[in-house]
Amino acid sequence: MTIFEKIISRQIPAKIIWEDDDAVAFHDVDPQAPVHVLIVPKRVVPRLADATDEDRPLLGKLLLVARDLAKKLELSNGYRVVINCGPDAGESVPHLHVHLLGKRALAWPPG
Ligand code: AMP
Repeated sequence: MTIFEKIISRQIPAKIIWEDDDAVAFHDVDPQAPVHVLIVPKRVVPRLADATDEDRPLLGKLLLVARDLAKKLELSNGYRVVINCGPDAGESVPHLHVHLLGKRALAWPPG
């Protein structure tokens, strides 16, 4: 069971800010920006590389949730949406998730 499954099943606490039948969003425990939220599907897909065509609606939904939360969290000056996939990207939790970062200027290219 991944740490995100434990959050979804309320076995461990998290600062949950949004949830529906398909996904949950909560504040990252180690924020890299003043706003750093993770949007996590309830159905476990380990990483983007493992997604299938069946996951197309779910993947689209995660981005639209990021859009909605960016509005709710007043990221009116911009924000970044990130999916880390695999070791080279620094993926640390093998449960697909979208990072939503904002409220500061973010450097590009990323490290
Ligand atoms: P990634 O490196 O893309 O796999 O992202 C995993 C993210 O999960 C990191 O930003 C971690 O800080 C975050 N994280 C790990 N454990 C927790 C937790 N218990 N609650 C909230 N965020 C977590």
